[in-house]
Amino acid sequence: MPPKKNKKQDASEIPNTSSLKTRRRVVLDFPASQIQTPITYILAKEYDIASNILRAEIAPEETGKLVMEMDGLPDKLDLAIERMKELGIRVTEIARKVTFDMDSCIHCGACISVCLAGALKLDKDYHLEFIEPKCTVCEMCVTSCPVDVVTINI
Ligand code: SF4
Ligand code: SF4
Repeated sequence: MPPKKNKKQDASEIPNTSSLKTRRRVVLDFPASQIQTPITYILAKEYDIASNILRAEIAPEETGKLVMEMDGLPDKLDLAIERMKELGIRVTEIARKVTFDMDSCIHCGACISVCLAGALKLDKDYHLEFIEPKCTVCEMCVTSCPVDVVTINI
C-alpha cells in the first residue's frame, strides 16, 4: 500500500497558473524569540511573496513590530500568514477596500477592462456595477479612471 500523503498543503504544491496576485497589508508583532527570523526572505523564497516594509520598530533581543505590504497569490498569502502565526508572530490584517463614487462616475467602462478579477461590469442600463466580493483590491482600476472617482480606503 502506498504511503499516505500528508494532508497539509505545502506552498510549493499550489499551482501558479490561476489567479491574480493581490496585496494585503499587515501589522506583525514579533516576540523576542522571533526577532531574528528573516521573514521577508522566507516570504519571498517559500511563498513567492514580495514584501514592502512600511514601518519597522525592531531592536535586538526585544519584541518588534513591522507594518508591511505583501504582494502574492491569495492561497500563498494565506499559507504565509498561517506560517507566521505558527512561529508566534501576531498578524493583524489592515482592512482595505475600493470605493467608487458612483455620483461622479461617467460609466465609461475604462476600469472594467483592467479588472481581471471580474469585479466590474456594466449593467443592463450601461451603468457601472461593482461586485465587491470578487474584488482582490489589486488597485488596477484606480489609475484607469479618467475622472478619478476610485479610491482605496485603509
Ligand atoms: S481593485 Fe479594482 S481592478 Fe482590482 S479587483 Fe477590485 S475592482 Fe477590480
Ligand atoms: S473608469 Fe471611472 S468613470 Fe469610468 S466607469 Fe470606471 S469608475 Fe466610472
